[in-house]
Amino acid sequence: MRKKSIRDLPWTDRRALIRLDFNVPMRGGEVADDSRIRAALPTIRFLRSRAGPLTLMSHLGRPKGQPDPALSLGPIALVLGRLLDSEVQFVPHVAGPEAEAAVAAAEAGHVLLLENTRFHPGETGNDPALAVQFARLGDVFVSDAFGSAHRAHASTVGVARLLPAVAGLLLEREIRFLSLALEAPEHPYVAILGGAKVSDKISVIRRLMRKVDRFLLGGGMANTFLAAQGLDLRESLVEASSIETAGALLREAQDQFVLPIDVVAAERMEAGSPAEAFAVDRIPPGWRAVDIGPKTRRVFRDSIQGAKLIVWNGPVGVFEIPAFSEGTRDLALAVADSQATTIVGGGDSAAAVNEMGIADRFSHISTGGGASLEFLEGKDLPGISALQDA
Ligand code: ADP
Ligand code: MG
Repeated sequence: MRKKSIRDLPWTDRRALIRLDFNVPMRGGEVADDSRIRAALPTIRFLRSRAGPLTLMSHLGRPKGQPDPALSLGPIALVLGRLLDSEVQFVPHVAGPEAEAAVAAAEAGHVLLLENTRFHPGETGNDPALAVQFARLGDVFVSDAFGSAHRAHASTVGVARLLPAVAGLLLEREIRFLSLALEAPEHPYVAILGGAKVSDKISVIRRLMRKVDRFLLGGGMANTFLAAQGLDLRESLVEASSIETAGALLREAQDQFVLPIDVVAAERMEAGSPAEAFAVDRIPPGWRAVDIGPKTRRVFRDSIQGAKLIVWNGPVGVFEIPAFSEGTRDLALAVADSQATTIVGGGDSAAAVNEMGIADRFSHISTGGGASLEFLEGKDLPGISALQDA
């Protein structure tokens, strides 16, 4: 799946319309985490020195098709300006004549940021009229919003059909690394899946099953697999409706799956609760699995040893509670330590890695939660399909 990127085009005098993912966490009107804004810098810097004016757009939160001052992109223009060390002109309109006038008045390399695309009722419905308004703001459309690539909205797909449309550097990188997971060019290839539910990731398991050499399963989803083997998980999160599917997967590829042999179980799902490691068949009545146990951590470390390609999606415990985060932290370090090409997908896994401050020790951390899952399922993402083929 090779797509044209901004590196494949001449840019002189061409106005760039760039869809980014500035859907950042806000706290008290301030940007609480600017990593998504930083992730957009390479594309902006690349185009700033080559193209005409740069018009940026993004959504933020879920404003339901009408203006919501708490979700304005105004504060983001300030943060972006600081990071770029130059002026970013905030245009308080999603599109329309005022936005067109602002772009028309801008010089080459000047950066403008439009208002939250979802303030317009036509955005999420992919309204053709809004797409036409967007298309008036640029000569070339650049998509760098991987996190929104699985949604067919006016600013991701509608406008891409009206202008020459290419990938930005971040999107190009997402496609390059996540494609490795599907193409499995390097072996041993180890996939690690965690998170809460099997049903969220069943399609990913199916898609990767014949490609990986080993599947390490942890977190809530491993419970359902253990239950399929007849174990009593007590009060652990088990998805009753997926036990049968989990059993079928285990029978299909018995030797691929590595399941926990012990877990940290807790009396209650909260900080300060009594918690202790137990073999998976020895969880006391009334307790619940909240993390992988120390023996399993060693098994996982050993299984990762020597891998050439590792794809990790989903924390292997309730990592939001520090006492239950050790398994996930240990696993993150094991993956970071390995010599393999390492790819992390999923919002919570990425958050865990970022929180630990070890993000730069992974080959790639995907910026798209839902989008990276759909990509790993092998689905066509409309925001990527709409771009020109290389
Ligand atoms: P990602 O966003 O990385 O794809 P998910 O959203 O699938 O990950 O899963 C993350 C969630 O899974 C976290 O909220 C975590 O608390 C939960 N989780 C992990 N292990 C367990 C467990 N043993 N019991 C209940 N929830 C769990
Ligand atoms: Mg998640």
